[in-house]
Amino acid sequence: MTQEWKVTIWGVRGSTPRPEREFLDFGGNTSCICVDNEKELVVLDAGSGLSALGRSIAAGGEKRKIHILLSHLHLDHVMGLLSFPPFFDPAAEIHIYAKAASFHKLETLVGPPFWPVGLSGFPAGVCLHELWVNEQFSLNGLEVYTMAGNHPGGSLLYRLEAAAPDGNVKSLTYTLDCEADASVLPALTEFSRGTDLLIWDAGFAPEDLKKGWGHSTWEQGIRLRQEAGAGRVLMTHYDPGYPDPFLRAQEEKAIRVDAGCRFAKEGMVITL
Ligand SMILES: [Zn+2]
Ligand SMILES: [Zn+2]
Repeated sequence: MTQEWKVTIWGVRGSTPRPEREFLDFGGNTSCICVDNEKELVVLDAGSGLSALGRSIAAGGEKRKIHILLSHLHLDHVMGLLSFPPFFDPAAEIHIYAKAASFHKLETLVGPPFWPVGLSGFPAGVCLHELWVNEQFSLNGLEVYTMAGNHPGGSLLYRLEAAAPDGNVKSLTYTLDCEADASVLPALTEFSRGTDLLIWDAGFAPEDLKKGWGHSTWEQGIRLRQEAGAGRVLMTHYDPGYPDPFLRAQEEKAIRVDAGCRFAKEGMVITL
């Protein structure tokens, strides 16, 4: 048997947080998802939801390594690094992964004059790892694969996969931020092939899709789930202009098309 994966949603918004009342059922924080496979804690993107995740880790006294995989450096995916309590724990070991040549930019953002403390100035051990597209590496038996997303300035998509001695393979594919047009669809379909959970950029409602903005729709996510034979598809990275009633209506429509899809909400836990 493979170990159980607990996937917790900490942020669901694209672009900017929306902490107002009519956004809080789905959630007001920007992208952040934690995957706990009982060995490692893997965090997908460091949006504003990372702060709440960090408070939860600090309160729980968790001492495992934390691996933060960044899709890209747009502010909605890194702003949580400004307020991540484990940075202040001298016993914490935090690994941050991003596309090659990202770190001098990240260190400029998280550091003076934009922030009082730089990434290397925290009491925790912080290690930075550069990644390339089409790379594979291992985190204590959890294989991580990367692919280039179709997004202004580029993005990295991730597939996490672990095989058990009995041959069972468990996987999750994370495809934020990516516009699923013809230039990327064949590769994206292969990258997502047979995955148990496809985490999808549903930034735009189908009627609002803006070509060239680097985001997709729930309709495209459903199509890709079916093409790739993925188990479930989880929509997230919602446009910050979409309040709860709008997203609820979109989710109802989407589930009528494909019962294997869900819309992410902050606090949601999915077990794989
Ligand atoms: Zn984004
Ligand atoms: Zn982006």
